[in-house]
Amino acid sequence: MKIAELHIYSHDLPVKNGPYTMANARVWALDTTLVKIVSDNGLIGWGETCPVGPTYAEAHAAGARAALVEMAPGLIGTEVLPLALHRRMDGLLNGHGYAKAAIDIAVHDLLGKHLGVPVSDLLGGAVSDKVPSYFATGVGAPDDIAKLAAEKMAEGYPRLQIKVGGRPVEIDIETIRKVWDVVKGSGMRLAVDGNRGWTTRDALRVSRECPEIPFIMEQPCNTIEDLRKIRPQVTHGIYMDENSTSLNTVISAAGTGLVDGFGMKVTRIGGLHPMRAFRDICEASNLPHTCDDSWGGDIIAAACTHIGATVRPDLLEGVWLAAPYIEGNYDPENGIRIEGGHIALPTGPGLGVVPDESLLGTPVASF
Ligand SMILES: [Mg+2]
Repeated sequence: MKIAELHIYSHDLPVKNGPYTMANARVWALDTTLVKIVSDNGLIGWGETCPVGPTYAEAHAAGARAALVEMAPGLIGTEVLPLALHRRMDGLLNGHGYAKAAIDIAVHDLLGKHLGVPVSDLLGGAVSDKVPSYFATGVGAPDDIAKLAAEKMAEGYPRLQIKVGGRPVEIDIETIRKVWDVVKGSGMRLAVDGNRGWTTRDALRVSRECPEIPFIMEQPCNTIEDLRKIRPQVTHGIYMDENSTSLNTVISAAGTGLVDGFGMKVTRIGGLHPMRAFRDICEASNLPHTCDDSWGGDIIAAACTHIGATVRPDLLEGVWLAAPYIEGNYDPENGIRIEGGHIALPTGPGLGVVPDESLLGTPVASF
């Protein structure tokens, strides 16, 4: 089975009750990119990539489409097999894993449909038919975030991620304390995500002033060097998110004991094929991690849920989806939803979600 056609779509995803606020970005709507691959036997596979604005990562929506247009002519005729595909893509373009991920996801969807199995089977097999999610609060006033924490705990979320940074660190500390007053004793796990926004001084201060609160610090500072500086001085666990841009970085961070876990994005690492290797490195190192993406609709959500369902349950920190912030689904029937803080694994072949193409309009490029 070979790639016969490749179509690229741009689609707007408005943020429900926006904006969504992080240390270094406020977003009201996201420009997502979908890829439709048609095989030479007439099957269709879907992929997606959606950077959460242009300042979260070294990625942006127009960049994803430019990279896809650069690779697309060279992908026609390529075998629909993940390893062959990644070697082909790397031979056409250096880097740009977030664009390659859209192709990778579409090929997994196609291959699953061809074999009549869900994508989770292609990734080694699901160990659960539903996965835990977690809720990310956005940066907000301490009392507002504490109220949100109570709501999300009542909805059944097993984990909460508090966004911090981009403001005086005293307000971040007050927010963490107020949330802890709400969730203490409930078993709800806490992550405090700086999104690269704290100085090492701020991160050290937060850890020193909140010694009794068992949160992990996710990507508190901007660089790997910053993480190295604070590592021996903090008592809280450190997870790497934005800095973990490749398997090589993951191997180094895990092997040198720099981190206690990862927030991982399927598109940042280049798709489901490298994500599978990432999962196995973490299992070998006993490191917990998430299976997320920065943003995106049903296609991304399904990809994250399939890989999440294959992770050893005690190491899975959750599957974060943009679903709570987006109105509607691409697939009105089998679209991915979070219920009671958990996500059911789609049951159909491939990704198990099929977009309503009438939502997407005409492709911005076709090959
Ligand atoms: Mg993060």
